[in-house]
Amino acid sequence: MANLEERLNEVKLIAKGPKAQFKKYIAAGKKVMGCFPMYVPEVIAHAAGMVPMGMWGAQTEQKLSKLYLPAFACPLMQSNMELGLRGTYEGMTAVMIPTMCDTFRCVSQNWKSGVKIPTISFSFPQNRKLEASVEFLETEYNYVKERIEEILGTKITDEALEKSVKIYNEHAKLMMKFADLVPDHLDVITPTVRHWVMKSAMFVDKTEHIEIMKDIIAGLEARPAYNWTGKRVVLTGITAEPESFLQIFEDNGLAVVADDLGQEMRQYRTLIPDEGKTVMERIARQWNKRFACPLAHDEKFSRGDHLLDLCAKTKATGVVVCLMKFCDPEEYDFPLYNKQLREAGIPSLSLDVDQQPTNYDQARTRLQAFAEIL
Ligand code: SF4
Repeated sequence: MANLEERLNEVKLIAKGPKAQFKKYIAAGKKVMGCFPMYVPEVIAHAAGMVPMGMWGAQTEQKLSKLYLPAFACPLMQSNMELGLRGTYEGMTAVMIPTMCDTFRCVSQNWKSGVKIPTISFSFPQNRKLEASVEFLETEYNYVKERIEEILGTKITDEALEKSVKIYNEHAKLMMKFADLVPDHLDVITPTVRHWVMKSAMFVDKTEHIEIMKDIIAGLEARPAYNWTGKRVVLTGITAEPESFLQIFEDNGLAVVADDLGQEMRQYRTLIPDEGKTVMERIARQWNKRFACPLAHDEKFSRGDHLLDLCAKTKATGVVVCLMKFCDPEEYDFPLYNKQLREAGIPSLSLDVDQQPTNYDQARTRLQAFAEIL
């Protein structure tokens, strides 16, 4: 068992240097599955003995990606494409790409044409109320499974799938527990540290990350609750990076007490359910249970309610919208939940998030002003 400080240092190194993790797994003879955001069925790759690793781009200048994508494609996909074309992901056995928005539709084809890593692409059904959508996704996931079996020359048994589902659910529960503990430990869990904990989960085999999270949780539970006297905010959006962006929160006495970010808690707040005749059906049903996310159509539009619940639960007095540049699904949602927040007396601030080297001076000024009104 490692102590809290050691584990927080470990997640920092992992989150800041995913390439080292990648090389470590390759050197150990592991097969790595690249996972485009979001919600790809990592658990199937895990059951095949692979290490699923998240592909969330990086702060990088985009040159080669311009041959494939228009300038108004979101920076996340531009960045993944750029890194793929540069050969950064060389050594990956395959990548999973879902088609969740218009940009994804282009990228799944561009990737096949420009990057020589086998691609497994599939679709999520958007009419999630119909039982037929579960059947459809089960068929899609069986296709994903068959492709992995074909690439690896192996069989994925139901027993292995059950085992991986258990591991993924245990991991998700630990992430939820950590998120619940954060508001009482804002002295050690700064916005940047919180982000490292969340981000590290994408680059480590979940069995290993479970041990990391158990130690972090035990370390936090052993500490007395800290009386934070600064302001508290909730983050929403796809990602809140780079670190220099999060540093502005710290510089202005703003604690991140909860998030609704694609890269963070949206991944972990929905477990793979118990209902289902087959294990693959259970994995498919997780999609129907996801909520408050613009990528999973929700007729009731629960995102505003969810943000208000997070604020109430964590005593947050404001919401910061980390708006990925050119992300249509996120932009469409904004006016709806923003109206709801305003009516409830919760101020919000929308800031552009980019993955090209940029300075965040404008965000700094706006966050300073926002902090004053909270
Ligand atoms: S959902 Fe948004 S961030 Fe994700 S690929 Fe589509 S446009 Fe990019």
